[in-house]
Amino acid sequence: MKPFAYARPGDVTEAVRSAAAEAASVYLAGGTNLVDHLKLGVARPELVIDVRTLTSREITDLADGGLRIGAAVTNSELAADRRVRERYPVLAQALLAGATGQLRNMATAGGNPLQRTRCTYFQDVTTACNKREPGSGCSAVGGATRQHAILGTPAALPDPTAPETCIATHPSDMAVALAVLEATVHVQGPGGARAVPFTELHRPPGDDPSRDTVLQHGELITAIDLPAPPAGARSAYRKVRDRASYAFALVSVAALVTVADGRATDVRIALGGVAHKPWRATRAEEILRGAEPTEHAVRAAMEAELAAAQPQPGVDGGNGFKIPLATRTVVAAVRDLVREA
Ligand SMILES: Cc1cc2nc3c(=O)[nH]c(=O)nc-3n(C[C@H](O)[C@H](O)[C@H](O)COP(=O)(O)OP(=O)(O)OC[C@H]3O[C@@H](n4cnc5c(N)ncnc54)[C@H](O)[C@@H]3O)c2cc1C
Repeated sequence: MKPFAYARPGDVTEAVRSAAAEAASVYLAGGTNLVDHLKLGVARPELVIDVRTLTSREITDLADGGLRIGAAVTNSELAADRRVRERYPVLAQALLAGATGQLRNMATAGGNPLQRTRCTYFQDVTTACNKREPGSGCSAVGGATRQHAILGTPAALPDPTAPETCIATHPSDMAVALAVLEATVHVQGPGGARAVPFTELHRPPGDDPSRDTVLQHGELITAIDLPAPPAGARSAYRKVRDRASYAFALVSVAALVTVADGRATDVRIALGGVAHKPWRATRAEEILRGAEPTEHAVRAAMEAELAAAQPQPGVDGGNGFKIPLATRTVVAAVRDLVREA
């Protein structure tokens, strides 16, 4: 491991000032992702700034019926909160589908959405990776692609030597749930405080796959707000993976559905495991809004959504299976919610 300086500032202002003064600095929260990266040589900072005790560890009620989640709240605390389980089951289920009890006891609400891809090439410093080392190329293209993206990728058969090529997926389960809940992320940075809609926090690889989010260097997540869930809405999370536990999603689905008089008045669908960011299925949502949410209608809407999917061939058989898998998982999730409603 490369040596680094460790700082434990007294408050958020001091933490942000320290980060702004050192370009090669990172924040440390629960450490369940960052410490692995320090050991693997994926992260090579000069300064690690411990923020674990600086932000709130409370979940508080908001006047509009929503909740404010302090960035230091652990994944276990969030999943166990009665208000979260009752009003936002999709979030509690997503959290409990992630990692293990021990990891969730350490992992934080601020750190979880900012965890980095589990792409094996990103984590292996002996291979080329545009995300880890901009401009070095992408070893995933033409490699093992089972865990990789089918949506939002630069081209059907991306050029592995191009600096913008990246077919990594975002690994967080929690982030997929927050995408349908239309959460807001509160950030404090060198330029002051700002609020970022959760659906705009993560970015597609674009021309710089090394950047996972729109956050600038030194910006610290202080809290995440959940708006009140729509009246009568049902929500759920489904995760499909190679093992029943302790595995990242091949495909996951967060769904929120409101039904009135047999019609879907509000449908929100987000997919995990298929793109560089939690993928809001806006095309499918548009088709289903106001329609009778039958299995046939949901399947047709997902086929429209996935018409642009670009499955990748791979030495492990590739990831074309994610197209029917995503469709079936959404159909099953929505079917169960409509039955409940
Ligand atoms: C074996 C294993 C299995 C796992 N399985 C799953 C799974 O199935 N699903 C899943 O979703 N996750 C899984 N995880 C990942 C785990 O959920 C994340 O590592 C954890 O949520 C990250 O939170 P943390 O507080 O530990 O973040 P850290 O590791 O401390 O930080 C992660 C990143 O966020 C940044 N950061 C942290 N806090 C802030 C903040 N407040 N503001 C700005 N930047 C910040 C850090 O600089 C770092 O870049 C797994 C992890 C392991 C090790």
